[in-house]
Amino acid sequence: MTAGPHDIIFLCRHCGSGAVLGDTELELVESTALLPVPGRRAMLWRPGWSIEADVVVDDRRGIGGRVTPGWSSLRKFIIPAFSLDLQDLTPLARALSSAAGTTREVPKEPCQGGTLDLVDALVFIRYLIVGAEVERPDDLATVRVEISAVNHRIVALPFQKHDERLRCAVTGTIIRGK
Ligand SMILES: [Zn+2]
Repeated sequence: MTAGPHDIIFLCRHCGSGAVLGDTELELVESTALLPVPGRRAMLWRPGWSIEADVVVDDRRGIGGRVTPGWSSLRKFIIPAFSLDLQDLTPLARALSSAAGTTREVPKEPCQGGTLDLVDALVFIRYLIVGAEVERPDDLATVRVEISAVNHRIVALPFQKHDERLRCAVTGTIIRGK
């Protein structure tokens, strides 16, 4: 496995095995890849997390103290794990998580730059959920959000070069990055 100096996520370009750097050793993690949609092709790959989680939203209270219904469901999230500005990470994670991406075997190509650990990916999922609740058309004052991961995998995400930027080959989302 080859990797950059700050990488904590590894995908073997020979067999596709995934691993994360734990406190003392590499820990194997299941791995998969997303297939580019028709008309797009993978020019390069970047790592992410595919996480299924039970999400519980309750104690939704408005500014006047009014309580509105919460919800709970099993949701799937795809969180890019390479270095991105929040303003690129948020729309890309939202688009990938709502796309019904088709999976394939991990490509026999480099997929480096994974620096976001699973704990931080779960923190980011919380941020996405809270953000979506705040965007609902009521004046939300407080909300309780619980996220429990049911399973997680490392996922290779396909990108195309687009001028000086990258275009996600699954969602079409354009991000700064190299
Ligand atoms: Zn291998």
